[in-house]
Amino acid sequence: MIELLIAGFDGRMGSAAIDMVRHHPNFHLAGVYSPYSDYAFLNEDPQYADLEVPVYHELAATKNAGAQVWIDFTVPAAAKENTLFALTNGIVPIVGTTGFTPEDIEEIKEVSKEKHVGGLIAPNFAIGAILMMEFAQKAAKYFPDVEIIELHHDRKLDAPSGTAIKTAEMIQKVRAAKVQGAAGEKETLPGARGADFDGMRIHSVRLPGLVAHQEVLFGSAGEGLKIRHDSFDRASFMKGVALAAEKLAGSETFFYGLENLL
Ligand code: NAP
Repeated sequence: MIELLIAGFDGRMGSAAIDMVRHHPNFHLAGVYSPYSDYAFLNEDPQYADLEVPVYHELAATKNAGAQVWIDFTVPAAAKENTLFALTNGIVPIVGTTGFTPEDIEEIKEVSKEKHVGGLIAPNFAIGAILMMEFAQKAAKYFPDVEIIELHHDRKLDAPSGTAIKTAEMIQKVRAAKVQGAAGEKETLPGARGADFDGMRIHSVRLPGLVAHQEVLFGSAGEGLKIRHDSFDRASFMKGVALAAEKLAGSETFFYGLENLL
């Protein structure tokens, strides 16, 4: 049995993670963490009446849970501290929270090496999204003109999404350097052309009713190619979280991107 702790348990992704963990034959929920919940035990929430799991409100106290794996679906402002805390306390972090900078990831990898504790930061845990990124990388070799449109629910805190940045990073590795659009192009409304990532443009859409979606659009003389992935339900992410927790419990290697485990 692998002992897991879920940080951000009362959020949209955290509650999907609780459902995944409680129904997984090899997982045991050792505790949950949120600084803001009033509960002492998870079963004080009527939807978890059968789950007598301690609720931790302080980061330092989570050590008492005896968790081997730390699942993090919190907020960009807390996720780095949580990840470093897990690593320094011998807990393998599996982090879905987005908003990490490349410098944050490097620092986390250094601490992982120093502490001999592995983990994962994955901007997207949906298997279809991983394939979408890989297909986009493959297409970018032949189509250097590309724009990324990511679409999310309107409570998402960071823009562009971690998936859009990861897609752009993967494309950057194979795409010939190029600034897209007309040489003299001018925005009459600032931001109209989206964010600039190495000459590629990323556009962020936020609307109620959406979950997580992305289109990668390629254009060339006389043809276009569109690669699209949709997460219609947060359950789409949980197969990837479970796979990572099973593969990385006890590991000493830190990864950025679920594709490294597939
Ligand atoms: P959410 O519903 O807003 O949940 C965030 C959770 O974090 C809440 O439980 C919140 O508690 C808690 N929280 C707030 N401040 C905190 C702090 N300082 N320390 C610890 N916990 C804190 O958000 P969500 O939709 O679940 O998304 C969570 C994260 O996952 C986001 O970064 C999102 O982009 C990311 N995400 C990743 C994937 C993926 O596949 N990697 C997929 C979807 C979303 P309160 O409710 O009590 O404030």
